[in-house]
Amino acid sequence: MGETKVSSRKRIAVIPGDGIGKEVIPEALKVLRAAAAKGGRELALTEFDWGADRYLRDGTTLPEDAPEMFRRDYDAILLGALGDPRVPGNQHGADILMGLRFKPDLYVHARPCVLFDRRLTPLRDRSEKEIDFVVLRENTEGLYVGMGGFFKKGTADEIAVQEDVNTRKGVERILRYAFEYARGRGLQRLCMSDKANALAFGHDLWQRVFAEVRRDYPGIQASHMYIDNLLMQMVRDPSQFQVIVTCNLFGDIASDVGAQLAGGLGLAPSGNIHPGQVSMFEPVHGSAPDIAGKNIANPMGAALAVSMMCAHLGWTAEARAIENAVRAAIREGKTTRDLGGPLGTREAGEWLASRVAAT
Ligand code: ATP
Repeated sequence: MGETKVSSRKRIAVIPGDGIGKEVIPEALKVLRAAAAKGGRELALTEFDWGADRYLRDGTTLPEDAPEMFRRDYDAILLGALGDPRVPGNQHGADILMGLRFKPDLYVHARPCVLFDRRLTPLRDRSEKEIDFVVLRENTEGLYVGMGGFFKKGTADEIAVQEDVNTRKGVERILRYAFEYARGRGLQRLCMSDKANALAFGHDLWQRVFAEVRRDYPGIQASHMYIDNLLMQMVRDPSQFQVIVTCNLFGDIASDVGAQLAGGLGLAPSGNIHPGQVSMFEPVHGSAPDIAGKNIANPMGAALAVSMMCAHLGWTAEARAIENAVRAAIREGKTTRDLGGPLGTREAGEWLASRVAAT
C-alpha cells in the first residue's frame, strides 16, 4: 500500500508569484519534469497566477477557499517569491504568504544549510562536511502572529506593543518535530536556541518543554544555546551543528546567517511543513526586483526547493538526482554570475535539467 502511494501521481500547485519568482520557477519545473520522467513518475502541475500583476488587475490576493482547495486537491505547493515595488506595503504578498502558512498550520519552516563547495563559504578553511545543518524554525507563532497595537500613534508619547505568542502545543510540536527529524536521519546533535535569560515568560516555556521532550530521545545529544551565542558559534565553528531548532524570529535570523555560510541566497531552499498535510516549498530569496527580468537570477534555490519537495513526497531518488545536479553544476562552473559562472537563469536551469536526465 505504502509503495502504491509513493509511486502514484503527484499533484503540485505552482505559484511563481513576482519578480525573479517568475524566472526561477519555470527553470525549477524543467528540473522537476526531468527528474520525474527519469524515475517514471507521473506529475500534474497546476499554475496559479497570484501575485502583484493579478492583485493590481482585480484586487485578488489569496482566494478564501484556496487553503481548503490545496488540502483537498494537491500533494504539495511550489512557491516562487512575492513582492513588487508597485505594491509598496506588499499587502498581496503578506496575504498570500501568511494565508498559505498560517491557515494550513504549516508549523515547521525547514531551512537546510549545506555547503556544496568550499569556495562558496565566506568562512576561511572550511570543508564541505563542516557546514551541513538544518535550521528548524517555528512558523506559526512568536512575534509573527501580528498581535499588538499602537497607543497615541504619531505623538511624542506613542507606544507600540508587539506580542510574542508561545503556546505549549506550538512549542512542543516543533521540538518533537526536531527530535524526530534528527532521529529519522540518524543525526546525533540537536541544539535548541532561545533567549530565556531575558524573555522570562515565553522562553521559560521553551526551556521547560525542551526539558520534557528531550527525555523521550535519550539517543540524541540535546544542547541549548542562547540566540546571541548560537549566532556567534555558527560563524566560529558551524561543524558543531546538525539540527538547530528555535522560535519564529530567531529562526528567521539564524537561517539567513546559515544561508550565507552555505553559499548565499541564490542557493538556499526551504520548506513550510506540517507532517501529513500539504506542505509548501520555496527558495529562500525574495522577488529581488533589482535583478528581475534580466535572466540573471540563480535558479538553484528553486531547484533545491523542488528537491526538498520530492524528498517530502517520498521521491527520494529524484530528490538526490536534483541535488547531485546542483553539486555538479557548481563543480563545473555551470552557474549564474552570482556564483561566478557565465550562464543566464534559463541556461542554468536547462543545464540542471539535462544533467538530471543524463544521470
Ligand atoms: P524580500 O523582501 O522579498 O526578501 P529583497 O529584495 O529584500 O526581497 P531578496 O529578493 O531575497 O531580498 O534579494 C536580496 C538580494 O539578493 C537581491 O537584491 C539580489 O541581488 C540577490 N539575490 C536574491 N536572490 C537571488 C538569486 N536567486 N540569484 C541571484 N541573486 C539573488
